[in-house]
Amino acid sequence: MKFVILIGAPGAGKGTQAKILAEKTGLPQIATGDIFRHNLKNNTELGNQAKPYMERGELVPDTITIAMFKDRLSKPDCKDGAILDGFPRSIAQAKAFDQLVTELDATLSVVAYLKVSQDILVDRLLKRAELEGRADDNAETIRNRMRVYEEQTFPVLSFYKEKGIVAEISGEQPIETVQSELYQAVSEKLG
Ligand code: AMP
Repeated sequence: MKFVILIGAPGAGKGTQAKILAEKTGLPQIATGDIFRHNLKNNTELGNQAKPYMERGELVPDTITIAMFKDRLSKPDCKDGAILDGFPRSIAQAKAFDQLVTELDATLSVVAYLKVSQDILVDRLLKRAELEGRADDNAETIRNRMRVYEEQTFPVLSFYKEKGIVAEISGEQPIETVQSELYQAVSEKLG
């Protein structure tokens, strides 16, 4: 059982890259943001719990997120591992995932960091707002999500850097170039 984690600020291209990588490796993509949005749309209890946080651009509390993630991971399609897109996003989630990896006798193969400058990120998110109409892609929420990323998710990167498993890739290149660098980093480790 092998895992790949994609880390990057909102708008760095995690979702786009994770989707292509999932197709190439045959591992499923687990996108916690997509799961939350799906629950929101269907008015489930989880959706209602997550809603106020998502609307403010804050992280959904760790206990709720970790429980949801574990539930997703227990599905049969995850038997060989997964590409994680948007999880872990806090040190508490990273530690919970570490424990899970040990329990499952799995391997965290690589953490790919998609690096993109702040100006490009904001520009991309505002464009996405026009195209997809995502409720949390407005100027104020975008600022908040950037702050949350810097305060809570960026430390996760240091956590993994200490373990020596981070591959840094420039996310400012064309989609195909990012994917080929990502795939190379991943296939070296996935074997
Ligand atoms: P995303 O589509 O990955 O940008 O996620 C959209 C929103 O879902 C985030 O702004 C958070 O409110 C919530 N979310 C997604 N993943 C997580 C996570 N791992 N921990 C906490 N909240 C999350």
